[in-house]
Amino acid sequence: MNLQTIKNLGIKLTKHKIVILQLFDSYRHLDANQIHALLIGQGTNISLATIYRVLSNFEAKNIIIRHSFKEDQSTYELVRPNEHHDHLICIKCNLVIEFFDSKIEQLQEQIATKNKFKIVNHHLNLFGICEKCFSTDYISDVNVI
Ligand SMILES: [Zn+2]
Ligand SMILES: [Zn+2]
Repeated sequence: MNLQTIKNLGIKLTKHKIVILQLFDSYRHLDANQIHALLIGQGTNISLATIYRVLSNFEAKNIIIRHSFKEDQSTYELVRPNEHHDHLICIKCNLVIEFFDSKIEQLQEQIATKNKFKIVNHHLNLFGICEKCFSTDYISDVNVI
């Protein structure tokens, strides 16, 4: 969603809203602390409270979507109306991998039809251990032996 589209939604774009939106051009998934660290790193003076306020405003306007990838913190992603994907999330390093599988999508439709149910939206999040974390664990286990 570009800035003009967002303006067309009747959202007043403040300087802080613009810098937060721009981050989502480079990063697909971000939590409030990451946004804060990135903006402070860029020399933007912004409080966490402001970031949360902007994020909840964007969420209410359906500009971003909030995911529960981590137990203690929400992760946000831009809404891309014509693009659907699901996620694999590493519970050790929080790596997020996006995927799309038409067989899974079809299966969901079949399950819904079988239950006389119409799916309007879904997010499939698969939690596990990524290759890097898995091999690090494996190496340390081997060392113990
Ligand atoms: Zn899906
Ligand atoms: Zn994603």
